[in-house]
Amino acid sequence: MIDIIKKYWGYDSYLPLQQEAMQCVLDGRDSIVVLPTGGGKSLCFQAPALAMDGMAIVVSPLISLMKDQVDALKSNGITAASLNSAMLYTEKRDVDRLIQRSQLKLLYVSPERLVNDVFIEYLNSIKISFIAIDEGHCISIWGHDFRPEYRMLGMLKEKFPNIALHTYTATATKQVQNDIASQINLDNPEILVGSYDRPNLIYRVKRADKRFDQICTVIDRHPNESGLIYCIRRADVDEISHRLKVSGYDVLPYHAGMDPEDRRRNQEAFIQEHTDIIVATVAFGMGIDKSNVRYVIHSGMPKSLEHYQQEIGRAGRDGLAADCLLIYSGRDLVIWKLVLSDLEGEAGKIAMEKLYEMSAYCSGVECRHKALVNYFGQDYDKSNCDACDICLDDIKLAEDALIIGQKILSCIIRLNEGFGADYIAKVLAGSRDKRILNMRHDRVRTYGILKDFVHKQIRDWIDQLTSQGYIDRDDEFRTLKVTSSGWRVIRGEETPKLTKAVEYKERDKKVSKVEIDSWEDVDRELYDRLRELRSELAGKKNVPAYIIFGDASLRDMARKKPKDEVAFLGVYGVGRHKAREYADVFIKVMVSYS
Ligand code: ADP
Repeated sequence: MIDIIKKYWGYDSYLPLQQEAMQCVLDGRDSIVVLPTGGGKSLCFQAPALAMDGMAIVVSPLISLMKDQVDALKSNGITAASLNSAMLYTEKRDVDRLIQRSQLKLLYVSPERLVNDVFIEYLNSIKISFIAIDEGHCISIWGHDFRPEYRMLGMLKEKFPNIALHTYTATATKQVQNDIASQINLDNPEILVGSYDRPNLIYRVKRADKRFDQICTVIDRHPNESGLIYCIRRADVDEISHRLKVSGYDVLPYHAGMDPEDRRRNQEAFIQEHTDIIVATVAFGMGIDKSNVRYVIHSGMPKSLEHYQQEIGRAGRDGLAADCLLIYSGRDLVIWKLVLSDLEGEAGKIAMEKLYEMSAYCSGVECRHKALVNYFGQDYDKSNCDACDICLDDIKLAEDALIIGQKILSCIIRLNEGFGADYIAKVLAGSRDKRILNMRHDRVRTYGILKDFVHKQIRDWIDQLTSQGYIDRDDEFRTLKVTSSGWRVIRGEETPKLTKAVEYKERDKKVSKVEIDSWEDVDRELYDRLRELRSELAGKKNVPAYIIFGDASLRDMARKKPKDEVAFLGVYGVGRHKAREYADVFIKVMVSYS
């Protein structure tokens, strides 16, 4: 296997669980493989397909996903094809010819096609090595993206009794795994579940404070690189994309309210790298396999950590550092509550719980990697991830958390639990706000008792107290109340966890180790030249730039500066086919640069 991987893909080793997953395929043992986005699921079935007799069938839910994978395989010199409804008769005939001559190693099809009687008969006359089902969570109604057509795959075991089935997905709880196994009648499957952690993603969570400027700060760190900005509402998409455009950024919008043709064109422009940035609602993302998305910004809080994980999953699939900024505010919570209030019964209750978990994550004070991994039911061993705001900014817990907590809770009580977080924070900071003076709240005893801290800092503390259950927020009026555990704090029987006050301007300066490592020894100017060349070649061939070479390969090239084809083969992600095709042009640019 490792020789095949080196020869076709130019990689020297396995990613976690890839070897085990490939072994299942080679042994013909049914399997369910759960690996995070960027975990290298495709290779788990593509590499064995090359080693085995016959042709592998790959089930994929979207034509765009099939196209992307087939393009990538072809660019590595592997014969692969798809059969789909968008193809012309002549194209289908060409695929049939390849199949009849036993030249095709992988065939991508939709689930509907695979269960079609005529097609099953056709396949029965051909040697099939195995069937791989991509996006396997679509089989289960408990998954986040159930597709009825995937249910029909239940008949495969009957129609192809001697052929192993393998399913691959990035998110599947135990319940979903079991459901997949029983729905498609897997025979004692091997279940391989990787870590949910994405160590190359750098998580930052910030309370909204001039959202637009916060967004621009991240974009400016990534000139000419691809990024996604997620918004809660369509109106936000329109507003932010317009403001960015006016400010000179290369950006396009995407949401379900747009004309389908415009939407398709904008998505295509992003994949082909004719535009750097997409501002979108959650409608954007399915079927985007682009490996070099360097940042994902959430301009508002998502409604659950499942959604958040899914959306940030689109960043850094190539394993290089990528920034994930989540901007949140109390307003986001109110918007979601309103939206979710339509849900009734159990569904409504679950949605609210998930929303509160999301909100608690935002104002949480523990490592973000740990919090996310724990949420999905796994342990996290590292004491410092070196890739989140908590660990990077070295946020320390305040030693005087008890006193600060008591001051905040007392203020809420002094004002008869009749005011919201913003107002309470102002009173504590000693603001000269007209409303406060009119209400004579500058005369209460708690006025200005936290005047050494900025308003934003006090707001953060109020959120931290809320997420730890010391304060309750009234859904309708947003007024704060002290809970029974809050009273324990007031009486000094319990100490909350609050972050040490930070100088806001100082934040964000520290650079993550993953970011430093992914640039180590890279000649940045040369890297930019290589990117220009890549973009030119991609334009000529009409394929996305990352199909030519991923960012990781280009950086390795700008690090090693190979002078001949043999040295070129030593670059990360360069297999024989690509070396033959591209060594000359790339070496020419490197030599002239030197
Ligand atoms: P997934 O489908 O799990 O999200 P992909 O199959 O798209 O992940 O793989 C993510 C990236 O990792 C791709 O660029 C792929 O070429 C790369 N990759 C896969 N296997 C390896 C490996 N063994 N070594 C290095 N990179 C790999």
